[in-house]
Amino acid sequence: MIPGEFIYHRPSSVAEAVAILANHGEEARPLSGGHSLIPMMKLRMAAPEHLVDLGGIADLKGISEDGDMISIGAMTTQHELIASDLLGSKLPIIRETSQLIADPQIRYVGTLGGNVANGDPGNDMPALMQCLNASYVLTGPEGDREVSARDFYEAAYFTKLAPEEILTAIRIPVLPAGHGYAYEKLKRKVGDYATAAAAVVLTMSGGSVSFCAIALTNVADTPLFAVEAGDILTGSTLDAETVKRAVAAAEAITEPASDGRGPAEYRTKMAGVMVQRALARAAERAKG
Ligand SMILES: Cc1cc2nc3c(=O)[nH]c(=O)nc-3n(C[C@H](O)[C@H](O)[C@H](O)COP(=O)(O)OP(=O)(O)OC[C@H]3O[C@@H](n4cnc5c(N)ncnc54)[C@H](O)[C@@H]3O)c2cc1C
Repeated sequence: MIPGEFIYHRPSSVAEAVAILANHGEEARPLSGGHSLIPMMKLRMAAPEHLVDLGGIADLKGISEDGDMISIGAMTTQHELIASDLLGSKLPIIRETSQLIADPQIRYVGTLGGNVANGDPGNDMPALMQCLNASYVLTGPEGDREVSARDFYEAAYFTKLAPEEILTAIRIPVLPAGHGYAYEKLKRKVGDYATAAAAVVLTMSGGSVSFCAIALTNVADTPLFAVEAGDILTGSTLDAETVKRAVAAAEAITEPASDGRGPAEYRTKMAGVMVQRALARAAERAKG
């Protein structure tokens, strides 16, 4: 329950925050909603000497549309994602996923940026961002760089984020109106990380799939973008045989941990079941 001692910083600009991080290297950590970092500090699994609270930086908030891209500030909370009419109409899978994350109190403070930067394979947003082909804007002493969510995750808690960088925004291409979507998550109870979960977005045209992206949560050290499964389904009518092949392709890339959520074999099978359910719901929702 008792974290180690640390020095608290509250910068008011991204530049100031980056300068503090650059000064202290691995000894400093950004603090967003604090609902993954503080629990780790209380267990002394993380013991940063400097906490750089991003809560005073107005630039990190907000959801905006720019042409065919939506940009979400890293400090936007899960609650704000759910409440956003823009996201509700353009990318409704974000609301559906957020509502399956944690509980109301955590969603008031937990941020999208913290969820995707954390690197815990249990987090739901990383696979969703891979499914949506989002990219992360990382700001460091040398300026900004953009990394695709599909390339960002290296292993559990290892990502492309450098210690002196801050994730400032998440950029997501808008999907066509009438696209189908679903996030299916199997969990033991409210607030639990997934035993397995699947994000699916697709478009239909004349009864067949014109585009399909699938990603998986918590069935490997990292979120998984299921390239082959999506490719198999593209061009199909979602007939049972093709869906079966796609599900098998998704299951084949999993490498789950065996833990309180069950043995690895079960979680792999559940990843397949979640893909199948998400596909069925996404197809029902798709127009075209
Ligand atoms: C009981 C409980 C249940 C939960 N259930 C779920 C769940 O079902 N699904 C789920 O996805 N999550 C779940 N969470 C996690 C929760 O949503 C976290 O809030 C979230 O993962 C981290 O976001 P945060 O804003 O709290 O980040 P923080 O805890 O502040 O930070 C997390 C990590 O990311 C780094 N970081 C944060 N922001 C940035 C940034 N902008 N740039 C660079 N690095 C940054 C921090 O340094 C830290 O290492 C749960 C948490 C709890 C306590």
